[in-house]
Amino acid sequence: MKNQDYNSRRTFLRNLGAGASALSLPLAGFGETLTYQNEHTGIHSLVTNLDSIRSSQPGRKLGIALVGLGSYSKNQLAPALQQTQYCRLAGIVTGTPAKATEWMQKYNIPKENVYDYKNFDRIADNKDIDVIYVVLPNSMHAEYVIKAAQAGKHVICEKPMAIYPKECQAMIDACKKANKQLAIGYRLHYEPFTKEVMRLGQEKVFGAVKFIESSDGFRSGDPTQWRLKKSMAGGGPLMDVGIYAIQGTRYITGEEPITVSAQFAPKTDPVKFKDVEETMFWQFEFPGGAVSNSTTSYAAGVERLYASCEKGWFELSPAFGYGPLKGRTSKGPIEMPVVNHQAAHMDGVCKDLLDGKQLPDHVTGAEGLRDVTLLQAIYRAAETGRKINLKKA
Ligand code: NDP
Repeated sequence: MKNQDYNSRRTFLRNLGAGASALSLPLAGFGETLTYQNEHTGIHSLVTNLDSIRSSQPGRKLGIALVGLGSYSKNQLAPALQQTQYCRLAGIVTGTPAKATEWMQKYNIPKENVYDYKNFDRIADNKDIDVIYVVLPNSMHAEYVIKAAQAGKHVICEKPMAIYPKECQAMIDACKKANKQLAIGYRLHYEPFTKEVMRLGQEKVFGAVKFIESSDGFRSGDPTQWRLKKSMAGGGPLMDVGIYAIQGTRYITGEEPITVSAQFAPKTDPVKFKDVEETMFWQFEFPGGAVSNSTTSYAAGVERLYASCEKGWFELSPAFGYGPLKGRTSKGPIEMPVVNHQAAHMDGVCKDLLDGKQLPDHVTGAEGLRDVTLLQAIYRAAETGRKINLKKA
């Protein structure tokens, strides 16, 4: 583990040296090394607070209110917000009074910045809160994103953006009407290993991509959780982590799939998975000729993104978790700085908001809508047993 930490730091500093001289950036204060507990892999050193991201409003941090204090807010987002440069944890919205008390103490949150789901709309009057981050079960995303926009706040919404494309469109429309921006929790779009495979694929560094294997799954625990209820999750592993496998194929090719075929695997635990799929597979065809095959599962683990190209190959494995991600190509290892995904994502979004810039399309509601449209097309293909032409869908 120590070696890995050392290598990450060394690689980062080497990249930093090259980048800093090319861009004439000052080295002072660059890349503070922090320690962070990763729930899957133990303790790793992380490099955050990249001064390369500079704001036009020096020192100002946007106030973020987290809505729904479950596992992702508690274990990832709140700790990441202690490391961010362009945003801070300013408020909370929770239906559990005991959590409100605990979070106020732990993060020094004033009482007037604490809301529940009934008085949520009063957040409109709170000048301390600039951005509302919706971290609720999937079926609640649309309602709270729309309310947040109507309260006059920018919004970040967790993935999947919603369950149906119609909801996504309503969320986009509400933000547009309020003249506020909507980002989706696509943390990997700010993660260096992921950005590198986007470049390798889209710039055809190993020639045209011929096929991709992109899969994400894990063994799910608690049989009573909302993730196993179709009404709240919209489906099973496809809605939860399958979306990462879809994203992987799309950001490697830089294209939208033109056909989809899909299959449900037999259920090995029909009681636990009575409401949603346990494991499923799907295949995309892309306009440039690439094809992809993907698996998602709540029965067992898989986390891999592999692209075979005309003149070589590249892969990430692990590819979608909280990191550190690991990559190699037919020419050798991919070496990139290790960052806190959540801090990099929230800082990236908030820096653009502070600068008054339009967020890049690939992290907005428009991207969320594309993914949700594909999620529903995959279910339709599996249910009908037909290959679906997505250009006509
Ligand atoms: P949890 O079940 O751990 O937390 C959800 C929270 O939502 C609850 O703790 C509760 O908070 C609130 N809530 C309000 N109403 C309900 C309800 N009826 N049933 C259950 N919870 C309710 O979920 P996660 O934090 O794991 O996931 C939340 C969202 O974040 C999901 O959309 C998920 O896909 C996404 N996610 C994204 C990840 C990423 O890497 N980008 C990783 C993990 C999750 P309270 O008690 O405060 O009201």
